[in-house]
Amino acid sequence: MFKLLANDGIDPVGKQMLEDAGFVVDTNHIPQDELPVKLQAYDAITVRSATKVRKALIDQCPGLKLIGRGGVGVDNIDVEYALEKGVAVHNTPAASSASVAELVFAHLFTGVRFLQDANRKMPVDGATKFNDLKKAYAKGIELRGKTIGVLGFGRIGRETAKIAYGLGMNVLAFDVHPSVTELELELGGGIKVNVPVKYADKNEVIAQSDFISLHVPFSPEPVIGAAEFKMMKKGAGLVNCSRGGTVDEDALLEALNSGQLSFAGLDVFDNEPTPRTALLQHPKISLTPHIGAATNEAQERIGVELATLIINHFKS
Ligand code: NAD
Repeated sequence: MFKLLANDGIDPVGKQMLEDAGFVVDTNHIPQDELPVKLQAYDAITVRSATKVRKALIDQCPGLKLIGRGGVGVDNIDVEYALEKGVAVHNTPAASSASVAELVFAHLFTGVRFLQDANRKMPVDGATKFNDLKKAYAKGIELRGKTIGVLGFGRIGRETAKIAYGLGMNVLAFDVHPSVTELELELGGGIKVNVPVKYADKNEVIAQSDFISLHVPFSPEPVIGAAEFKMMKKGAGLVNCSRGGTVDEDALLEALNSGQLSFAGLDVFDNEPTPRTALLQHPKISLTPHIGAATNEAQERIGVELATLIINHFKS
């Protein structure tokens, strides 16, 4: 009988699948410093972001056969070392893409109707300065008919594009390794439509878009810095639900303050978990604390995908 430690939790549906397949699943969290001793009793461990599975832990647990990561990145696992030692590593890269893409539109709809500011001011001034606020937020715009530039056309970029098409937006895509030429949109009622993808080079995408959404992996140099902000249409909007570091935060603040950018939506920050105050308090920034993948649906898909990978690994 295989014993699995789901140290950062696992969705109940995934847990049940594993138990039905004959696994013993332990969801009691073991603190990091106790893992070298206690993990030895298990065949496999699943983690989210909290638990780290580094070289030393892998060496201390020679019976470990599999490490599962519920989510996209595997920064908290020494993957190459694990593979060298014959320990399989599985993650669930696709399970949360649709949730992150929906958050992009939560930020976009917020930005074009000033909700980030209205939600801060209405509780304070809504009863005394209603008409002033009504005037302040009067010049909203629609997303329909506008162009969204998607930088990074991987799993989440493509889900973002699908929602945009559904809303009647134009999509311009840029990817360093463009792979798809067509997207299949699944509309309500089971209707499916294929849409061709329109690619352009990075500068064209930046210059021609009304809104830009970033979906690239972490890179040591920001993908959007001062030069890119200058290239944007005046009054463009920017959403970053990818990784901190991909946007130069000083240049972002400058672009917002000069009016070059009309709003930003940020789920990710340079210094998580302590983002800078100038961003947190800016009236033109819609903010979320890195919750792109944090929906019930994504967590269930992550659990099911992880369970399927683990079952296939041990049963094959
Ligand atoms: P993916 O690997 O499927 O897609 C990334 C794409 O970016 C690839 O197609 C790659 O070719 C392209 N790319 C790489 N560097 C580029 C560059 N400089 N310019 C243009 N394209 C570039 O990844 P994904 O699953 O779509 O994830 C995208 C990002 O979202 C990652 O940074 C991931 O960490 C992040 N993410 C955030 C959350 C959240 O909670 N906000 C959740 C999941 C993933």
